[in-house]
Amino acid sequence: MLKLLRNYRSPLSVAAYAGCLALLPVTAIAEPPRLILQITVDALRGDLPQRHLQNMGKGGFRYLFEKGVHYTDAHYQHGNTETIVGHTSLATGTTPALHGMVGNVWFDKDAGRLLYNVEDDRYHLLSSDADVDKSIEIDPTQRVALADGRSPRAILTTTFSDELAYAYNGAAKIFAVSVKDRGAIPLAGQTGKAFWFSKASGAFITSNYYYDRYPQWVVDWNEADPLARFSGNHWELLKPRQDYQFGADDDQPWEVDFPGFGRTFPHSWGDRSGKYFTTLLTLSPAGDQLTLDFAKTLVEKEQLGQDATPDYLSISFSSNDYVLHLFGPSSLEAEDVLLQLDRTLADLFSFIDQTVGLEHTLIVLSADHGAPDALPYLNKRGDLDAHYYDMDACMQSIEKGLVNTPFGKIQGLIGQFSHPYIYLDQKVMAQQGLDAAVVADAVAGLAQGCKGVSEAITAVDTRYSPARNSVVEQRVWNNYNERRSGDVYVVLDSNVYVNDFDGLTVAATHGSPWNYDAFVPIFFAGKGIKKATVNRPVTPYDIAPTLSARVGIKAPSGSVGQPLGEVLD
Ligand SMILES: [Zn+2]
Repeated sequence: MLKLLRNYRSPLSVAAYAGCLALLPVTAIAEPPRLILQITVDALRGDLPQRHLQNMGKGGFRYLFEKGVHYTDAHYQHGNTETIVGHTSLATGTTPALHGMVGNVWFDKDAGRLLYNVEDDRYHLLSSDADVDKSIEIDPTQRVALADGRSPRAILTTTFSDELAYAYNGAAKIFAVSVKDRGAIPLAGQTGKAFWFSKASGAFITSNYYYDRYPQWVVDWNEADPLARFSGNHWELLKPRQDYQFGADDDQPWEVDFPGFGRTFPHSWGDRSGKYFTTLLTLSPAGDQLTLDFAKTLVEKEQLGQDATPDYLSISFSSNDYVLHLFGPSSLEAEDVLLQLDRTLADLFSFIDQTVGLEHTLIVLSADHGAPDALPYLNKRGDLDAHYYDMDACMQSIEKGLVNTPFGKIQGLIGQFSHPYIYLDQKVMAQQGLDAAVVADAVAGLAQGCKGVSEAITAVDTRYSPARNSVVEQRVWNNYNERRSGDVYVVLDSNVYVNDFDGLTVAATHGSPWNYDAFVPIFFAGKGIKKATVNRPVTPYDIAPTLSARVGIKAPSGSVGQPLGEVLD
């Protein structure tokens, strides 16, 4: 077996070196961890673990705070703080400008339609009953996909997991698990195996990009009917209500009153014959518990971390994100889903300790993006003039305004509006001999006139203007990919929010370039890690090259992050 070891001077070797100069080499060599466990908590804004730490138990987040390195000032530096964008950035160590996943959906100029990020018509799901059921799917981005097949084909640079596969001649085992397909697929990269949860079939599934048939343990796990325990049951508070910061605020008017689930505890999952039963599981701690259960079986059956070749497991917990959309981050539901996730993490860490040993495992935990507070919650605290963005009204005023431009008589200038991008119709541009840059400039000018728009930045500005007036403009630039980004990027004011989720009105929606959406925690713990709290600004792009440096392999192909010294020294 190929062994790739980097020169490494551990604190122990330095101390020992001082005492036994003649007996030791100048540097000792650190073995790579047997398991790299990358945990992502969907929409875990950077302040949330600390906010609820006093109510957390032992061995979960508290283990990370007490034994790990905690980076307290980590912000994404791209504009579209969405799930696929963040997960791919964690995997590749780079920005969407390079990895290409510029949004949960984008307009594909060749296909002439919106694409869902991980859809791939060359492949199919391995289960015939698991395709997105558009009649009950509440995730609007999932409804965009035309094919049931899923793969990482659209990711344009390598991931840490890919580099691990290349370095060890395929001997490193690489897996990724999540409720969301887009929470698993990017982390598995082109070389690993990804599993996710189908709300249509109520099973963990995959596509034939990864396997020709399911491993037997996956069949067995699904056939053991792990969902049965939730049927006819409900999501209850973990602790007595009075112990919660939001215990007296269970029923807030902006919370989504999902049919049968309601705005207050206990939230019923209903009978499994109910059409939203599996959806409701994902909107509660049950989604994370199922993910953990599946991941534990995976570790056992695939025998991860059992030899000196480093294996990789990514687990992305999705429930926090769904709960934040429905109830907002400052709600009893958000508080409880995090306390229950804390117990899920404690269970996971204890399991990994028994099966692999925490001393052989390098753990990294972060998030794919943060989250804004629900607008009425903010307004309750003072007159901030926070308001919602009226997307339709803005588009209508742009189209109306275009009539008064030199190209006002031409129909269909705007091909697609997928917030925050406006795409011009390139066919119309070509047929009419129009300069897209001039039209984009006019569209941006009109967009700037919409209520709540901070600035509208054209692709030409992004490409050629050397000046970045603000961190927000820098983030828009980092989101710009020539092939997939729109002609105009609409930035809203920091106190203006989107609450329309394709017709479903929600409490909160992330996705902006502002800090509340860009802020995430980063923790490293396990093998060789010494407790530290680091307040230096870092980015989540630093994670992948740090893992590469720690294992002693090359960084992902487009990596722009800086290896983090506290993890390596
Ligand atoms: Zn997300």
